[in-house]
Amino acid sequence: MSDTSAAKTAAPTSLPDAKGRFGQFGGVYVPETLMTALAELGQAYEAAQKDPTFVEELRRELKEFAGRPTGLYHAARLTEHCGGAKIYLKREDLLHTGAHKINNAIGQAILARRMGKQRIIAETGAGQHGVATAAVCAKFGLKCVIYMGAVDMERQALNVFRMRLMGAEVRGVEAGQKTLKEAVNEAMRDWVTNVRDTHYILGSALGAHPYPMMVRDFHRVIGKEIREQIMTAEGRLPDEIIACVGGGSNAIGAFFEFLDEPSVRLIGVEAGGHGIKRGEHAARFEGGKLGVLQGSKTYILQDPDGQIELTHSVSAGLDYAAIGPEHAYYRDIGRVGYAYACDDEVLEAFQLLSRTEGIIPALESSHALVHGIKRAKEMRKDEILVINLSGRGDKDVQQVARMLGQRTS
Ligand SMILES: *Cc1c(COP(=O)(O)O)cnc(C)c1O
Repeated sequence: MSDTSAAKTAAPTSLPDAKGRFGQFGGVYVPETLMTALAELGQAYEAAQKDPTFVEELRRELKEFAGRPTGLYHAARLTEHCGGAKIYLKREDLLHTGAHKINNAIGQAILARRMGKQRIIAETGAGQHGVATAAVCAKFGLKCVIYMGAVDMERQALNVFRMRLMGAEVRGVEAGQKTLKEAVNEAMRDWVTNVRDTHYILGSALGAHPYPMMVRDFHRVIGKEIREQIMTAEGRLPDEIIACVGGGSNAIGAFFEFLDEPSVRLIGVEAGGHGIKRGEHAARFEGGKLGVLQGSKTYILQDPDGQIELTHSVSAGLDYAAIGPEHAYYRDIGRVGYAYACDDEVLEAFQLLSRTEGIIPALESSHALVHGIKRAKEMRKDEILVINLSGRGDKDVQQVARMLGQRTS
């Protein structure tokens, strides 16, 4: 985070409020035993933000360890293919461990050390956040325990091995659907028990305050760089920025810098899975209702009795029943638009970017590409579109090969 942009972004929005709410969304809905821990975390974070030593250490590690700044790449052949707006890709896929997640993992690990916490826990779904957390724990010499649903461990065996290589203990969770939601529950249970020496590195702009705010802030560097880089390349702001939305961290990181720029349209893309039918998708704004899940009030896919609905997406990283509360707020006030992309279109975009640009995108990021390609075709040639490429597709190639009926070994 550069000093020049710090002053510039102090103003855009004052949210969340003191209770961690974005309008009616967000807040702190946790057991009593965690209230103190969350309040302490909020205070430590606030102090750290104002401490130049923290700011400088974070800046240095993002540069030296994670590989920031990432490029803003003019996708000339994809632009030509679409025949409309000039397309730029923000290259978060080039970061260490393969996705934007490392921005937040580094930030929270530095914060944990400041707080004197020697043990880190985290949840992971596909394993990307687990891998990023394992990497920063190895780097800083912190003990690391990752909770992961047993089903996800089987689906993402390679990421489990990566985490273990870097010294993390991966604990399988056998409850419920044995996926991300249950892993979060286990991590919260661990935190309640071990809160004195343990920090919980939550992986998206989700959960109880201060997490949605803190995770957002650690990813704001994405939007700050986009601003600087597009000003250098084009001398003006983009007309539209598109990002995929699981919990919402890469999207809010890319958008935040532009919330107060009415000329910049902002679009989040959710997982449409097999299409918008109950249990077949993870598009919370397509049929989700207001509720509370894992600490936060937001839009949630639930049945009429309030039971959490099954979700589906080709990309594990977008496969979650709740959306980050800040997105719920910007959607309600109409500042950010939301769309969805379905599995088959995602598979097409995954292959199209590989062929036209020599970049294999993550399946999550391919959701942003699907909508970006649609929009580019509708936009004029003198308009500028930025697509946030949240991660690389190395983790997905075997799955895609299987879906295309091809062998990899
Ligand atoms: C985890 C992940 C996502 C979804 O998480 P957000 O918090 O919504 O950003 C998107 N893209 C990639 C590559 C991921 O690993």
